[in-house]
Amino acid sequence: MAKFGLAVHGGAGVIRKDELTAEQESEYRRSLAAALEVGQKILSAGGPALDAVEASVSVLEDDPLFNAGRGSVFTHEGKIEMDAAIMDGKNLKAGAVAAVRNVKNPIRLARAVMERSPHVFLIGDGAARFAEDIGIELCDNTYFYTDRRWNELEKAIEAGKVTLDHSSLDPRIGQKKPMGTVGAVALDMAGRLAAATSTGGMTNKQYGRVGDTPIIGAGTYADDVCAVSCTGHGEFFIRAVAAYDLAARIRFAGKPITDAAAEAINRVGSFGGEGGLIAVDSAGNMSMPFNTEGMYRGFITSESGPIVEIYR
Ligand code: ASP
Repeated sequence: MAKFGLAVHGGAGVIRKDELTAEQESEYRRSLAAALEVGQKILSAGGPALDAVEASVSVLEDDPLFNAGRGSVFTHEGKIEMDAAIMDGKNLKAGAVAAVRNVKNPIRLARAVMERSPHVFLIGDGAARFAEDIGIELCDNTYFYTDRRWNELEKAIEAGKVTLDHSSLDPRIGQKKPMGTVGAVALDMAGRLAAATSTGGMTNKQYGRVGDTPIIGAGTYADDVCAVSCTGHGEFFIRAVAAYDLAARIRFAGKPITDAAAEAINRVGSFGGEGGLIAVDSAGNMSMPFNTEGMYRGFITSESGPIVEIYR
């Protein structure tokens, strides 16, 4: 019988058991399980991995708990600017958007870039014009406003720092070092792989900062050997070309996915980068390494799950 597999993440970072109430923890677990369920329905019915990752990521974008879509963090100017990418491993098609505003589900816009434009990557105002032209759902600023994110921005401005989500104080730099992107990777029953990642980026980011999430090969990648979605300090994942690094270890060095994934995260960590990733290979094997204290994550396959985990 053909296999399928799906993994999701809701960001990696300083996530400690004593920092989450039982209620908060179950909210995160419920949301990750809901994202898995939506994707699993598509995959178990024989649907494409691409549809599954888009649907799972959309569920997490709609949930204010996560730093993507509705729950995105604020820029220095008090705006929401989101990045997202999706990739279809069967044909190496990809779509990405950066610094988009007022788009309810940036992952849907990324998919539209892939399927309805001749391009791979659209940014800012141009991406917004494309979204309007093709009728992607837009929301006004109030949809994205959450007290939690606004308070985080005020604190970050006060400290004069750019911060990631799920942060706590990093003694080395005296600032919060959190992370909180969402992502999904899937293998479908026809053997196709796909990856999708979406983020609000970093609190208090300035000057049009873009992280690894929408950069194909850095935060998001899929081909015929594996699909990868990363989360963490984007600047490091960009420099390590982390998602493609993992895929290359499988393709060219013949590594099993668990080794390739561990090596890719270790490489990011070797020069100071913090974060994690989820990956699935063409046989449905999965790996979800991280070098932070926790990563919101879960998976389901044709044989097992759903399993949702938060801590190490
Ligand atoms: N990787 C994302 C970025 O740097 C942040 C995250 O994963 O939380 O924009």
